[in-house]
Amino acid sequence: MRPSSSLNLSFRSTINRMNNANDTMEKIVSLAKRRGFIYQGSDVYGGLAGTWDYGPLGVALKRNIMNLWWQHFVDSRDDMYGVDAAILMNQKVWQASGHVDTFVDPLCEDTVNHRRFRTDHILKDNGVNPDGMTMEQMDAAVVENDIKSPDGNPLSKSRTFNMMFMTHVGATNDESSVSYLRPETAQGIFTNFKNVVDSFYPDLPFGIAQQGKAFRNEIAPRDFIFRSREFEQMEIEYFVHPEAWEQAFDELLESTHEFLESLGLSPDHIHELDVPAEDRAHYSKKTIDIEYDYPIGREELMGIAYRTDFDLGNIQRVSKKSMEYQVKGSNERFVPHVIEPSFGVERALMAVLSESYREDEQNGEKRVYLTLPKHLAPIKFAVSPLLKNKPELVEKARQVYSALKKKYGAVMWDDNGNIGKRYRRQDEIGTPKCIVIDFQTLEDGTVTVRDRDTTEQQRVNIDEISL
Ligand code: ATP
Repeated sequence: MRPSSSLNLSFRSTINRMNNANDTMEKIVSLAKRRGFIYQGSDVYGGLAGTWDYGPLGVALKRNIMNLWWQHFVDSRDDMYGVDAAILMNQKVWQASGHVDTFVDPLCEDTVNHRRFRTDHILKDNGVNPDGMTMEQMDAAVVENDIKSPDGNPLSKSRTFNMMFMTHVGATNDESSVSYLRPETAQGIFTNFKNVVDSFYPDLPFGIAQQGKAFRNEIAPRDFIFRSREFEQMEIEYFVHPEAWEQAFDELLESTHEFLESLGLSPDHIHELDVPAEDRAHYSKKTIDIEYDYPIGREELMGIAYRTDFDLGNIQRVSKKSMEYQVKGSNERFVPHVIEPSFGVERALMAVLSESYREDEQNGEKRVYLTLPKHLAPIKFAVSPLLKNKPELVEKARQVYSALKKKYGAVMWDDNGNIGKRYRRQDEIGTPKCIVIDFQTLEDGTVTVRDRDTTEQQRVNIDEISL
């Protein structure tokens, strides 16, 4: 379906770009809006680029993904501790971590209309691989390849642009009150390392996990929710003995693949990129990016990095507080090293939608459906009376609906239009099963259970309905 004419500019430009890149992505973006998964942020006022609002189905899908992650990496293990740190942190956190000085992207400008772009993105869009290039090399590549802005004008030289959103805390507006919306959740974990050790005194290796909002003033947010200015991360800092990092890295990488499989992502669409030294953050001794074959192309879904003792070392240096871990029953003390698996919720969600989007034909009619894994589907069952003007059917259907709702929560009542239309609507939002109550139900207590993927219908006793 085409986007409606009420779409604001940023939403429209997202769609236009994708239209060229891939029709499937456009269809997913439209479905997400139309069916109440994801809307442009501040839509009613013309939008705010790089922000997205989750509708009733989107919030359910997002929470299901986040809960699955928590279950997989925290609840099912005995070496993980959860935290939920404040988004606003003391500015020293971002000075010590290096974000104030180095959390920058290369920015260039259209010299005529002054639109701004990320130089590495401009190169990539023009078929030049910017990986490993310094800013000067990127500028040289722009000149060498005679690359112009998307509006056809010459581009300026690049400068660095810090992506952190700065703010002031409290009633004074001076240097001392500066703070930032966190650009990653990781630092809220590192700053709580000592607290968790003092409260729980865990054996090494152990991890601290956090989920929550992160903010980056991306120069050019694009590709739907893939590159947003406000998004959510799910991160783990896994603390290890400096000599035991490789084993922990491999174990967390394997566990990551298991998690991605539980999201329903096909292993064929997932690729490991062993990031070469020149492209890694300077403190990282090894980084593997997990890339996914999105409709927009193969792009980073998450990354797992060996960060050495860089972060705890910085905190120790700036705060003057020891970040050493003392091995129980021995005098051995050291600053632990860290393996960091870092997931973006939006990128996981976009992969799930991309993987599950399907079109087929049923009885000569085009059908759109989402093959969402049952445990992720925002609605598990839709319950309908065959006819909504037959009180006896409606009453029975209400009973079935209430019983299922009590057990599964995410159950929808749907009595609009004919049964075929109801099935189409539920298929489009990925509801695994539709239950229909008809006259036979009143006689023998069986209902029709219709399967989303096969469209097969079976008669099942009410007590035996299961997901
Ligand atoms: P990219 O190179 O795509 O900008 P990154 O390497 O800077 O990403 P990290 O800093 O490693 O990303 O962040 C960890 C994860 O957070 C990423 O793998 C991604 O899933 C997610 N993420 C980062 N930036 C964004 C964004 N602007 N919008 C949505 N998710 C993001």
